[in-house]
Amino acid sequence: MADHLERTRRYLAEVGVDGVLLFKPENRRYATGFTGSAGLALVTARDALLAVDFRYYDQAAAQAPVCEVLRGGTDLVAALAEAARPRMGRRLGFEAEFVPYAHVERWRGKFAPLELVPLNDVDRLRWVKDDAEVALIERAAGLSDAAFAHMLTVLRPGITERQAGVELEMFLRRAGAERLSFETVLASGPRSALPHGRATDRVLAAGDFVTLDYGPVVEGYTADCTRTVALGRPDERQREIYALVLAAQRCALAAVRGGFSSRALDGIARDVIEGAGYGEAFGHGLGHGIGLEIHEGPSVSPRLDVPLEPGMVLTIEPGVYLPGWGGVRIEDDVVVTSDGARVLTHAPKELIALPA
Ligand code: ZN
Ligand code: ZN
Repeated sequence: MADHLERTRRYLAEVGVDGVLLFKPENRRYATGFTGSAGLALVTARDALLAVDFRYYDQAAAQAPVCEVLRGGTDLVAALAEAARPRMGRRLGFEAEFVPYAHVERWRGKFAPLELVPLNDVDRLRWVKDDAEVALIERAAGLSDAAFAHMLTVLRPGITERQAGVELEMFLRRAGAERLSFETVLASGPRSALPHGRATDRVLAAGDFVTLDYGPVVEGYTADCTRTVALGRPDERQREIYALVLAAQRCALAAVRGGFSSRALDGIARDVIEGAGYGEAFGHGLGHGIGLEIHEGPSVSPRLDVPLEPGMVLTIEPGVYLPGWGGVRIEDDVVVTSDGARVLTHAPKELIALPA
C-alpha cells in the first residue's frame, strides 16, 4: 500500500491540490488497504488519515497501518476535519463524480476554512496496475477459464438460462471467487443479441448461441470474460458472424501495446466489423479497464483518446448483435506491456459446438 500512497501523492501534485478526500470505496481501499464499506480517507503530501466509525476501529487499524486511524465516533467527518485543518494547505480535492451533492454541502461547512476542490479524475490513480494487482487479476482470470471449461459440461438443451447461471456462479464461488463483480450475463438463442442479457427461465435449445459473461473477484480484483458457444452444429450464418467477431478481436489483441491510442485500438476492431457490413451491430466500445471495479478507466472506445500505458489491464470485447437472431461477443483480459500485451484469460476461442 505504501506504493499506492506514493502514487496518490504524485496525483496531488499533478492536479494541484494539497490533499484529497477518498470516499469512493475502491479509491479508499487502493490508497489505504482498508476494505470496509464506510469511512473517509485523506491523503496529503505528508499524512494519510483514515476516519472510520465504531464498526471498523479494529479492522482499519489492522488493514491500514500506512494510515493514522481516527476513531470517528458518531461524526467521522468532523473528526477528520479537526485533524486535517492544522496540517495541510487550503486546497482539498474530492471525488466530484462520486460524492453525493448533499455530502459536499455538509463537508464544506465541516472542513472550512479549507476549500473543497472538485476533481473529475481521481479514479485515474488506479488505471496502471502494479505487479501485485496484475497477479490478483490473473488469478481471477484463471478461475474464469476453469469456469468456462466446467460450463462446457453443463450447457445442453433442456436446462434453463437461470439453472446454467447458478451452476456457473456456484462453480466460481467453490473455486475460490470471493464474489462476482456484476450480475452474470447468460443469454441464449435470440436473447444472445442482448449485450447484457441476464439469465431468465428460457430453456436452451439446439441451434442456440449461448453467451456467458462473468466476473470472478479475487482479493477485490475482478476478471471479466465472455465466451459464446453453439448448441448443436452451427449454421452458416452463425459461423460467419462468429468468425467475424473473432477476427476483430484478434486484430485488436495484436495491436495492443504501450503508447497505442485507446481510440485507435477500438477503431481496429470496428473497422473489421464495419468492413463486413455489421458496423451498426457493434454498438458498444471495444473494452474497458478492470481492477477493483468491473468498469474502470481507460475505456477503449471512440469516445476516449489516451495513450495506453504498460500495466493497464483492459478487456478486449468486440461483439455483433442482431435483434431477433442472436449475437456473439468474445472478451479477453490483457495487461498492456511496452511492446505488446499479455493475455490473462485463456479459455478457448475457436467456435465450440456442444452436443445437442
Ligand atoms: Zn464482460
Ligand atoms: Zn467487459
